[in-house]
Amino acid sequence: MSNLDIVDKKIQIQGHGIKISPALKQRLNQEGYYPVALTWIADDITGPFSFTGYGDQATPFELRHADGGYRVFKDNKFFVDATFYKKPAFFNRLHTPKGLDMEAENTIFIDEGMSGAITPKGIVSDAETITTPCGGTQRVGDTITTPCGGTQRRDLSLDRNSEVYKFTKGRFPYVTVACYNGLVIWPAWGCLYTKNHTQCKFCCVPGDYNEHKLLHTDPDYWTNLGDAFAAAVDEIGDEIGQVSLTVDSGTLPGRDKGASTYIKVLDTLKERLGHLPDLLYRRAVIEPPLEFEWLDQLAAAGYTDVQMDADVYDEKERRYVMPNAKGFRKIDDYIKAFRRAKEIFPGEVATQLIVGIQSDENLLKGVEHFASEGVPTLVTPFLPFGHGRNWQATGEVDVPSPERMKRVYGRAAEILTKYNVNPPQFRGGVSSLAETMGRRLRRARALTNPIDLARERETTLLAA
Ligand code: SF4
Repeated sequence: MSNLDIVDKKIQIQGHGIKISPALKQRLNQEGYYPVALTWIADDITGPFSFTGYGDQATPFELRHADGGYRVFKDNKFFVDATFYKKPAFFNRLHTPKGLDMEAENTIFIDEGMSGAITPKGIVSDAETITTPCGGTQRVGDTITTPCGGTQRRDLSLDRNSEVYKFTKGRFPYVTVACYNGLVIWPAWGCLYTKNHTQCKFCCVPGDYNEHKLLHTDPDYWTNLGDAFAAAVDEIGDEIGQVSLTVDSGTLPGRDKGASTYIKVLDTLKERLGHLPDLLYRRAVIEPPLEFEWLDQLAAAGYTDVQMDADVYDEKERRYVMPNAKGFRKIDDYIKAFRRAKEIFPGEVATQLIVGIQSDENLLKGVEHFASEGVPTLVTPFLPFGHGRNWQATGEVDVPSPERMKRVYGRAAEILTKYNVNPPQFRGGVSSLAETMGRRLRRARALTNPIDLARERETTLLAA
């Protein structure tokens, strides 16, 4: 199958999400897969990452195990073969805030224990169960008083219109593998704007701001982050140079917008390893700090790339969609930050705009404006996770159709070509712009399941 076919299929699935039954998820886990995103080994493309469909929206796509492998069916007809990344051992290292172990929290959405697999809701049979004082079983959730008088956590699936939410119980992976062959470190899941109840309407991080999400405030976090990263480097071995590192978080309080915390991440890794490994890139995803000197400090700390997401281009639309300091930040300010960043970062300076939450024409004006500054735009579809799901429920926005995405990717690709700007290095399951423009990334074998490596060997032998 040609790359173009797979890109096309990826965009189709992305527009709908995909069903995976709890039994199949269990099988994937048992086989050592890490079901964060569909991938296609031969073409090395990373695909969509919603495995429950989008909320109540029906999806024609379903994953099945058939003929010795994983295959996607569309309306019960074979659509495409697919597989997943291997689940690395270092992923088992999870941060648990002290004293909060097994306490129910407001953080939901982490499916398969993985930050990248943000799903709008879990599935009943996936929920953990515990034995109640009365001898029955009860799914873990909030606390209730049981019929026999003890206290018992309540399954919140019984509330919230019978939807089922998964709980992280405060456990967050120190280092995750994102759906783009890269490592990701989130020093905080909370965001200042969520705290102020002015979160962006499309924000994929659900729930309220709470201290459990501010991992960087816990001294243990830093010690164990260093250890988890050392384990990741060890496990990936010689291929570490093919793997990227991204540091991301919600916007943190302060004029630096979190830059000092990002710097501490690289300092911690350096301290633990004695050096910073040569990765494909070391990228900070951050709102532009109010003083651009922070950009110099990020570069000096060892970041090679920076991504400052504008998300929405038109000023009026920005203020509506992001009713916070970010939304009121002028695009001109972003342009100034890009210019400064381009002078000091050796790698890529990029941004993001989201399709489905603004007019396509305005979005493409943004792609052109940024490209004229030499800055590529990661064009991504709106997906209804977290707060975005509530917004979708109002009927005001929806997941853009595959046809719309293809149109926008096509025009964005033309613009980048016109300005001689490469597609963004970072791409992942959430954008197909880079693949539309023919860009591929070599997949690390250290992140490939041995089952797939064996299958690949077999195919090579047969071909020879
Ligand atoms: S989208 Fe980002 S900046 Fe906006 S509320 Fe969510 S985490 Fe904060």
